[in-house]
Amino acid sequence: MTYQQHHNGKAIDWSRMQFETRAIHDGQEPDEATGAVIVPIYQTSTYAQEGINQNKGYDYARTDNPTRSALQSAIASLEGGQWGLAYSSGMAAMQNVMYLLQPGNHILLSDDCYGGTYRLVSKVLARYGIEYSLADLSDLDAVRANLRDDTRMVWAETPTNPYLKIVDIAGIAEIIRASGNTETLFIVDNTFASPYLQTPLALGADLVVHSATKYLGGHSDVVSGLVVGNDPEIRATLKFHQNAAGAVPGPFDCWLVLRGLKTLGVRMREHSANAQRIAEWLQSDPAVETVYYPGLPSHPNHAVAARQMRGFSGMVSFTVHGGFESARRIVAATKVFTLAESLGGVESLIEHPGEMTHASVAGSQAEVAPNLVRLSVGIEHVDDLLADLEQALEVATPAGIGSR
Ligand SMILES: *Cc1c(COP(=O)(O)O)cnc(C)c1O
Repeated sequence: MTYQQHHNGKAIDWSRMQFETRAIHDGQEPDEATGAVIVPIYQTSTYAQEGINQNKGYDYARTDNPTRSALQSAIASLEGGQWGLAYSSGMAAMQNVMYLLQPGNHILLSDDCYGGTYRLVSKVLARYGIEYSLADLSDLDAVRANLRDDTRMVWAETPTNPYLKIVDIAGIAEIIRASGNTETLFIVDNTFASPYLQTPLALGADLVVHSATKYLGGHSDVVSGLVVGNDPEIRATLKFHQNAAGAVPGPFDCWLVLRGLKTLGVRMREHSANAQRIAEWLQSDPAVETVYYPGLPSHPNHAVAARQMRGFSGMVSFTVHGGFESARRIVAATKVFTLAESLGGVESLIEHPGEMTHASVAGSQAEVAPNLVRLSVGIEHVDDLLADLEQALEVATPAGIGSR
């Protein structure tokens, strides 16, 4: 794949340009046939052939579609990879990557990974003889201690969900390299940071996976997944499996993600600034027990975050005094923050991980605290967000705690 493209009749090498410019242009040239500035939605299932097996690069839309190709080029550019692949959901992308494993292989996962990832590994892959274990991957000693000879995949998220721990990507890549096990792939789920804030391939990851449903789409209007990498053989295997199994995205969904990507930089700056203000405010509130946000100097992995990220993203978690009851009342009391699962959209969301996103990990090593609340801080005006949280904490926490 080359980033050398033509723009206004001139050859442009977008790969030399800054993130915000690539997000708008790379892989998204004006349509050659019509001049349409925005990549069209190629709503077609099949393509006319000039002769038997003679085509313009597309034959059947499960295999490929030009809107999907544009999205794949764009995400490859933003993650700094050689290629990208697009899927019908984040989990479809993750399942496709996990299908690189064979029976008897071992996968090492974060102990607070996305609930759906844990469910896929523990309930589905385990049936096919793939072994797994969980460890705190933000602790490099724990990574060393849990790597096995048969470990073929280390699967990290950073920031993690919902505790927003930071995994030292370069540190884990180095541990895997030093282990001498050249077959171990290092996968980073970059959903919570987005490539604007961190590019794992440059830090030594083999593959980056995304739920594009979140920050990349950015408007809570599409479910989509992406994988980016450098190795052409891995791409060929993933592509073969995807085409064989069929978890492909529709052209309209690809178009929505492409539209979202164009504003990723400005959105991530705003999400990060709002979340920083809210995390600092929560820290000083007497109803709050602990705030989890990598942008706080008090965060245990703040130094690693500051080194490998360009900003700290829009996710903030916190525990409250008064246990489950307080947490339940807070998520019911906000008015600007909508009670909903998911994250990464322009609108602010609030949820109770123990009963919602992480209900599937109850009773496991990945179980979360009952008094934990998770925020996806949007890009509304921060004063309105702060006022909303203030009134919710006031009405919802036990009297006597709030000495405000
Ligand atoms: C949402 C999410 C997924 C799953 O993606 P879908 O698009 O919902 O299938 C995987 N990992 C993380 C970190 C997520 O937040």
